[in-house]
Amino acid sequence: MLTAVVGVNWGDEGKGRMVDLLGCDYDVIVRYQGGNNAGHTVKNDRGDFVLNLIPSGIFRENTVNVLGTGMVIDLEHLAGEIKNLRSMGIGITPSNLKISEKAIVCMPYHKKLDGLEEDRLGEGRQGSTRRGIAPAYSDKYHRKGIRVGDILKSESLEKKLEPVIGFKNALLRGYGADEITVGESAAWLREQGAFLAPFIENTEEFLEECAAGQKNILFEAQLGTLRDIDYGIYPYTTSSSALAAYAPVGAGIPGRRLDSVIGIMKAYSSSVGGGPFAVEMEGAEAEALREAGGEYGSATGRPRRVGAFDLVASRFGVRMQGADLLALTKLDVLSYMERIPVCVAYDINGVRTENFPVGDELEAAKPIFEYLPGFLTNVSKCRAPGDLPKEALDYVRYIERAVGCPIKYVSVGPERGDYLELPEET
Ligand code: GDP
Repeated sequence: MLTAVVGVNWGDEGKGRMVDLLGCDYDVIVRYQGGNNAGHTVKNDRGDFVLNLIPSGIFRENTVNVLGTGMVIDLEHLAGEIKNLRSMGIGITPSNLKISEKAIVCMPYHKKLDGLEEDRLGEGRQGSTRRGIAPAYSDKYHRKGIRVGDILKSESLEKKLEPVIGFKNALLRGYGADEITVGESAAWLREQGAFLAPFIENTEEFLEECAAGQKNILFEAQLGTLRDIDYGIYPYTTSSSALAAYAPVGAGIPGRRLDSVIGIMKAYSSSVGGGPFAVEMEGAEAEALREAGGEYGSATGRPRRVGAFDLVASRFGVRMQGADLLALTKLDVLSYMERIPVCVAYDINGVRTENFPVGDELEAAKPIFEYLPGFLTNVSKCRAPGDLPKEALDYVRYIERAVGCPIKYVSVGPERGDYLELPEET
């Protein structure tokens, strides 16, 4: 069984928490895009963790975790994440963690250039995490990337770096920044290679064998539909494809079809970084939701922008992901609201639409709200649909009908067991 677990919204929907829960049915968990620019938060019987690069299956025994070819990997950050998890008692060896030799290395100069460009943009900055992800992906497509497997061929590193560093220095000069040397980049790569070499392999061969052997593989996405490079709120997107359709390619089994797509969707909206966000709340209203939901970036600590559930964006998100079923997370967060706002349509220059627009139209979109009765009850101990107050269940079923996809899981807290399963509505 090949399953993708993906974000329906702007990211931070609780994918890590759901992968941690669903992971018990899978032999292999693969990250297939992105880098360490987002964080997955996992709370389970082994502790509280934030993962930036390592798949959320690392906490389960007998689960193999793969960093796939579609990723960009800051090797130093990865080594730090491995050491940190080990210090918290999580065993990590080449038999439960494998890194694709074909993934792109996110180099120190990518981070530097990311920061320089954000500074140059000033007020108009894109809201980058400054972790080098966009420059690393740019190099990949410019065919100037260093691949993870290159660090195993120590003798040819300088030759590979030479033309790249020349290009980087041309850019650095343009920014008025200090130039870098081939020697320092090669030394950094060798240092990381000394620790990470045993984990690097041809992961597509490994995954193909797993698929052929009827193993269950879960593809874990980073971010969500609206940050997808192709279909998201470009240019305020991430630099990779956050769609389920990209999972087999980015992981390394391109000829295989997914058996199912599980979309993770939050019971309200949040967004990190810039770009249009029609449902954004301001002032005390925003503060209350941000506090209730703990909406601060797990990779950066930045306060997240928050807002009501957005049906227009979420319906689009579900469709672009091709979701077969959904998990609705953080329902418990809404328990303080007397009435729950839901954005049911946009007003774009006086015209009502329920279709998600792009570009200038999206920038001009004003939300049209409907209000559902609040449930004003702590639902975090609910473990079956019958435990939920009627208003809470009505809210979930209303969203389910409106986005047109069954909600199978409702998460009511951050711990592994804080959820309930809904029967399909007939
Ligand atoms: P991801 O990137 O999609 O994995 O999401 P994040 O880890 O950035 O954000 C999800 C946050 O919400 C984490 O702090 C989780 O511990 C927390 N969380 C996940 N599900 C729930 C839930 O149902 N209720 C509450 N209160 N918190 C949750």
